[in-house]
Amino acid sequence: MTTYNINVTLSTAKKEKPQAEKLQFGKTFTDHMFILDYSVDIGWHDARIIPYQNISLDPASAIFHYGQSVFEGLKAYLTKKEQVLLFRPDQNFKRFNQSNDRLCIPHIDEDLALQALKQLIQVDREWIPKAADTSLYIRPFIISTESYLGVAPSTHYQFIIILSPVGSYYKEGLSPIKISVENEFVRAVAGGTGTAKTGGNYASSLKAQQQSGEKGYSQVLWLDGVERKYIEEVGSMNIFFKIDGEVVTPMINGSILEGITRKSILQLLRYWGVPVTERRISIDEIKQAYVDGKLEEAFGTGTAAVIAPVGELFWNNEKMTINNGQTGEVSQKLYDTLTGIQTGALEDPFGWVV
Ligand code: PMP
Repeated sequence: MTTYNINVTLSTAKKEKPQAEKLQFGKTFTDHMFILDYSVDIGWHDARIIPYQNISLDPASAIFHYGQSVFEGLKAYLTKKEQVLLFRPDQNFKRFNQSNDRLCIPHIDEDLALQALKQLIQVDREWIPKAADTSLYIRPFIISTESYLGVAPSTHYQFIIILSPVGSYYKEGLSPIKISVENEFVRAVAGGTGTAKTGGNYASSLKAQQQSGEKGYSQVLWLDGVERKYIEEVGSMNIFFKIDGEVVTPMINGSILEGITRKSILQLLRYWGVPVTERRISIDEIKQAYVDGKLEEAFGTGTAAVIAPVGELFWNNEKMTINNGQTGEVSQKLYDTLTGIQTGALEDPFGWVV
């Protein structure tokens, strides 16, 4: 593999590291960051690791106006033997480029991105928290930096990676969430940007999330944008149901973001011989399964929580309590296995960890 030249400038003023029990998601950042510039005439250039700092941009920069940007999210874990593990980082950088395609952003070199990430983590290695269930959250992102108010693909970009130590998502074991079906707003439609990780998708999801929060629900269950009938995702996670012994998840359809956790879960379930199908699932079908006593489990999947069991689903003024509001067997087994592989506690038969 090619070795890329990455210039490193170390920080002379190290920040104080937060205590493990006080870590909040995405609030603390490490001492360094990675930056790579792009200009249309020279391509991606000037790869560097520098002290974590503010960036200075012209107010006319494209990112501030039309939101041409993409991002990714993954985690690094410290094993008991203090080895650093990444979970399927190649998949994140592959999806990064798929998002770049959709947003007219030039592709990055995935090998360079992975090398940069590994080197940055080495530099900030002491920042990886050690306590059980903690990790280092990694946020690669690209912003458009051309100073131009015309609506057009930018001629300049910055690719940046920042790192944030994060605490355990669950304080005392898996705890089921309450979610509500969103009937008014939609997240994405086929042909739109739902399959890309771009800021606008998250900005446009806030209203539904806020309203559902006011009613006491922690996430919304998104329905498709055309028929308002088929289930798509939950908050910013993919969704699975166990109905009458079979695990089902909405098929990739041009508006769902294809999660790396989702992909891994499908592989794990098939490896275990658990029946699993990717298909269209209507909210009416879920209601009927509930009425028939066949809705056995529901869970969201994503990098942040890994597995988020759903204990209550609210739809059209009716509450459906799933598995007595408790974590189901499949949810628990998936969580234990995935986090076990991610942290090096369990063997990795799939070659996922790096
Ligand atoms: N859907 C959306 C909209 C997301 O933002 C995420 C988080 N990246 C996911 C699903 C889950 O993806 P992953 O398993 O790769 O974290």
